[in-house]
Amino acid sequence: MKKNILIIVLLSFLVLFATSCGSKDVKETKEKGTKRGLDYLVLVNKQHKLPDDWEKKVELKEDKDAWGDKVLVEKEALKEFKKLREALLKENVDIELDSIYRSVKEQQNLWDEWSKDPKKGPEYVKKFVAVPGYSEHHTGLAIDVCLKKNGKIIADNDEMIAEKKIFAKVHKKLADYGFILRYPEGKKEITGYEYEPWHFRYVGEEAKKIELTGLTLEEYLAGSNEYYINDNEKLYDKAIEYLKEEDKKENSKYKKEDYYKFFVTYDGLGITKKDKNKYAYMWILKESHYLKDKKVQDGESASMFYKFTFKDDKVVKYENPEEGGHYTKSIKKMSIDNKMSEKILKYNSKLSNDKEVKKYYEKVSNPKKLTKRDIMGDNKLLFTISKRNNKCVPISLNVYDSKYELYTEYKDCKGKLCNDKLEYTKKNTGKYTYDVIKIIKNSKNADLLLAKELEEYEIYTGKNDYVYMMSTGKDNKYLKDFLKEIKVDLDECAKKSK
Ligand SMILES: [Zn+2]
Repeated sequence: MKKNILIIVLLSFLVLFATSCGSKDVKETKEKGTKRGLDYLVLVNKQHKLPDDWEKKVELKEDKDAWGDKVLVEKEALKEFKKLREALLKENVDIELDSIYRSVKEQQNLWDEWSKDPKKGPEYVKKFVAVPGYSEHHTGLAIDVCLKKNGKIIADNDEMIAEKKIFAKVHKKLADYGFILRYPEGKKEITGYEYEPWHFRYVGEEAKKIELTGLTLEEYLAGSNEYYINDNEKLYDKAIEYLKEEDKKENSKYKKEDYYKFFVTYDGLGITKKDKNKYAYMWILKESHYLKDKKVQDGESASMFYKFTFKDDKVVKYENPEEGGHYTKSIKKMSIDNKMSEKILKYNSKLSNDKEVKKYYEKVSNPKKLTKRDIMGDNKLLFTISKRNNKCVPISLNVYDSKYELYTEYKDCKGKLCNDKLEYTKKNTGKYTYDVIKIIKNSKNADLLLAKELEEYEIYTGKNDYVYMMSTGKDNKYLKDFLKEIKVDLDECAKKSK
């Protein structure tokens, strides 16, 4: 609730600001989405009244609703609506105009009339009719549609809400024509209205940005110093160039071989701007190959999320999320808003073998269904035990059918971040007898992405290049036995690293 109050306070300032700007002609032409002094981002809701000069400024055009009756719509909004309707007709979806423009006076009449109706009464009116002056329909930019299906008009609210598939198709196209869905599901606390799949609002060219943020108009305007922008400066490409340059500097060990190829490609997830910085969110696949002993060898390979920070359109840094237990948290921290973090967390990159990964992932999140085969890709099981809190060395253990390899922190690392530079220090071969599946099956949480609390120890299992996270308490009997078997004492390791 506190957040809402803050938003409202911010919005009041913004509205004051917007209306005071609207009276200066010179500035108007420069304002985005503003033509003829009309602010297409105008906010009218239960707290924000229609600007006094709006009715004088707005240019309305006549059209017909689904029943052939005359309706008025703001000129540009109508033009774009017609295009939207045309595009949808090609997909066999017919949206028709229903309720559009209502003057403050008409709203007042409606209010008075319904208040007098004994069947409706004042409570009903308060719930379903906007206070005159506080309805978005006064702007001429709000369009209520109804559906035409098999020649029949569907205009009843409940019946329309039930047409989920049709409205999903419609909503997908809104932003292309400058519209947003004004009252999305679950945002009543912010917009003041229940879900209205039929109520569209013309906002002009900013519709796409608003759609990308997943925010309501209220939220978007409140946080408008932080928003999504188009890639006009080709920031994605610049980020990729940066990685290529970086690769040239690094990986010299491969380049000494007679052949070296670095391959990198990406999916753009969005670009945002805040203050003077810009940020590119990307899913990147990079791979390198080199030739050794006349055979092409795989170098590094990664498919992961990157966030690049730009200053003056130059990369100043990039970040990757932390792996393991901190993954979700760090994605959230790196994301500009919830929509972005959800997008990243659910992202199913075509750049990786997503079908395979998804199948595997589903199993991993249900450890009871795991079988040894599931975690033993290519006869190899990789799992890492790391201690939280965090002086303790990470231990990386590769378990093969008949041997395991143990890696600990590189001795000369001297407190630097060495997780990426795990050095091989000890190798034991011998028959590996312990059943790792039992450890995993007895883990408290098989899927750390869903786990609310982190456990002290984690087990990561990996198949090919993909790392999956398991978490387990250190008292997991099977883990304890296993560590004993391979002579790893985590407490001792914690002591040593202090
Ligand atoms: Zn409406």
